[in-house]
Amino acid sequence: MSILSTAIEYLKGVGPAKADLLKKELQIFRYADLLQLYPYRYVDRSRFYKINELGGTAAEVQIKGRITNMEVQGPKGRGSRLKATFQDDTGEVELVWFKGVQWIQKSLKLHQDYVLYGKPNFFNGSLSFPHPELDLEADFKRSPLRGLQPLYPSTEKLNQKGLNNRGLAKLTKVLLPQLKGVLPDFFPAHFRDRYALMTREEALMQIHFPSSIDKAEAARLRLKFEELFFFQMEMAAQKRQHHREFQSFAFAEVGAHFNHFYEKVLPFELTGAQKRVLKEIRQDMRYGKHMNRLLQGDVGSGKTMVALMAMLIAIDNGFQACLMAPTEILAQQHYQGIRELLEDSPLQVALLTGSVKTADRKVIHENLQSGELHILIGTHALLEDKVKYKNLGLAVVDEQHRFGVAQRAKLWKKNKLPPHILVMTATPIPRTLAMSIYGNLDLSVIDELPPGRKPITTSHAFDKDRNKLFGFLETEIEKGRQVYIVYPLIEESEKMDYKDLMDGYESICRAFPRPKYQVSVVHGKMKPEDKDFEMQRFASGKTQIMVATTVIEVGVNVPNASVMVIESAERFGLSQLHQLRGRVGRGAEKSYCILMTGPKLSRDAQVRMKTMVRTQDGFEIADVDLKLRGPGDLTGTQQSGMLNLKLADLRQDTPIMDLSRRALQDLFNADPSLKAAEHQSILEEFAKRKSGKIDWGRIA
Ligand code: ADP
Ligand code: MG
Repeated sequence: MSILSTAIEYLKGVGPAKADLLKKELQIFRYADLLQLYPYRYVDRSRFYKINELGGTAAEVQIKGRITNMEVQGPKGRGSRLKATFQDDTGEVELVWFKGVQWIQKSLKLHQDYVLYGKPNFFNGSLSFPHPELDLEADFKRSPLRGLQPLYPSTEKLNQKGLNNRGLAKLTKVLLPQLKGVLPDFFPAHFRDRYALMTREEALMQIHFPSSIDKAEAARLRLKFEELFFFQMEMAAQKRQHHREFQSFAFAEVGAHFNHFYEKVLPFELTGAQKRVLKEIRQDMRYGKHMNRLLQGDVGSGKTMVALMAMLIAIDNGFQACLMAPTEILAQQHYQGIRELLEDSPLQVALLTGSVKTADRKVIHENLQSGELHILIGTHALLEDKVKYKNLGLAVVDEQHRFGVAQRAKLWKKNKLPPHILVMTATPIPRTLAMSIYGNLDLSVIDELPPGRKPITTSHAFDKDRNKLFGFLETEIEKGRQVYIVYPLIEESEKMDYKDLMDGYESICRAFPRPKYQVSVVHGKMKPEDKDFEMQRFASGKTQIMVATTVIEVGVNVPNASVMVIESAERFGLSQLHQLRGRVGRGAEKSYCILMTGPKLSRDAQVRMKTMVRTQDGFEIADVDLKLRGPGDLTGTQQSGMLNLKLADLRQDTPIMDLSRRALQDLFNADPSLKAAEHQSILEEFAKRKSGKIDWGRIA
């Protein structure tokens, strides 16, 4: 048994009480756990400050000086505190203790040389140190407390029992020398050289007590690298396992329907990105391995076109295809678009939504089972039990975040094999993150917009600019354009939001009176038929202004609409703002997006507005979004059952992620089934770390 699995109570300085606390508070049970309690930062204890240098620093500092005065103040007992004056040759500061007053007073000596370490407080223009650490200078010189000192996460309870940062550092200091020689490296030397990695032993020593900042960074790099390396290895393994265990239909041919469409119907040249993605999809579906692919691309990047062409491949091979959309309006638009594109073909396309009448529904069900129907487009209605295909070969799911995995499985209840799955999403996520959230989905990205798109001019305006805004809308409408005005609707404040929307609608109606102007309104409380009716009026140009809540967020296509006004824009998240803006800029005309906000904005809201004004790049916007929202929103990653990342951060460590991905690829290229003797240690480490039940031996 390795020394690393020794129970923590056997470490010198850890008695039963401390062991208990370490287990409860920090989940430290064994030596290995303490080894992996990594410092989150270091303080440089080789540097001494003078009191007159302490300007406005809020971080911990270290000063040499003497205590010139001490005094216990306040009532006896709990309310008392100890105040001391600490002096160096440039000035003096106050020290304060609220706890352990008696004991501390006894242990401190007046007029002796001390080293003080602590975090200054600035209050009413004067400086004080609450509960500083004090060491007699003579002791300090002999102690290991010099150079870079680690800061460990600690808790109130640990602090009380002497397991504060300093206590934890002492334990690590006792532990590390015992581990010399028992931390073998699973990466061979040539591998480490190639990617400029420290040995594992050096990294684990240096991360706790680095000899320099550079060494500390190199140590972190090495340890993050290995976390991300095994993380990606597990994902690669899951994918291989998926491909191995899940069979689907082999679409060997690209046939007449596809070719006819490509040569005769397709009204434009595909972009390079569309061609690349189509190839990836084609490759997936060719050999009977199950495709499970996420197609990411900004609004309007041409995902739907790619999806349609993938469906044609399925049909060419004698199968049916379906497309499921999150809303009725979207399903209808997909249906109309695809119907038009397939106008001169014999292929049968049907639309199935909640509002299709029972009689029509029956016909659809029958034609689906007989195989007469080639493409079925719809909403959740596709998941109903009565919807059974003759042979569903490909299911396209638009905007996956609204559908759960279990729901997707309902799509193919009657199939012999699961159909190929293509999930489309317009919510851009940085690649590293997408990989972790979507685990075993393969990822395709359309990172190029069709040519000729005009940039959208985005501006940020305040409520006081409303008259100017109305003037601008008037001139645009004069030119024959149409306008969206969008209001937030957040569930918690639904009533107020609804009132805002209706107030807004009325003021728009007053500013743009009938009969010269027609204004539509659409919100979530309307019946689907009424919503559709209004949407259609706007789409056909009968109304010039559409006042709406975010029901129009996803996918609606009205090319003549060229102005998007977003009310209370500070209440929307970045990705939503981006989606909304994507509703305009679809036609030939110059388009505008105007973000209306109140006068007072939080810092985050300001960043969001600035980002929207600055860029239209969905990936850049997603990056900013992620930074703003912080790690709290990453919980989705945790549930994917991936390796537990202690140091690496999927949002920040993209370069290390890329490096480790390259390393993994190089490794597989050189030794596809990891048979070489020198790679066995990597396999063993993988087996130790992996969370799932992946049998690499079987897969490779
Ligand atoms: P997405 O589904 O990604 O939002 P769509 O497939 O709906 O995008 O395409 C948006 C618009 O761009 C549609 O009108 C579509 O016909 C058009 N389009 C798609 N691909 C191209 C291309 N390569 N060149 C020109 N226009 C294209
Ligand atoms: Mg779309």
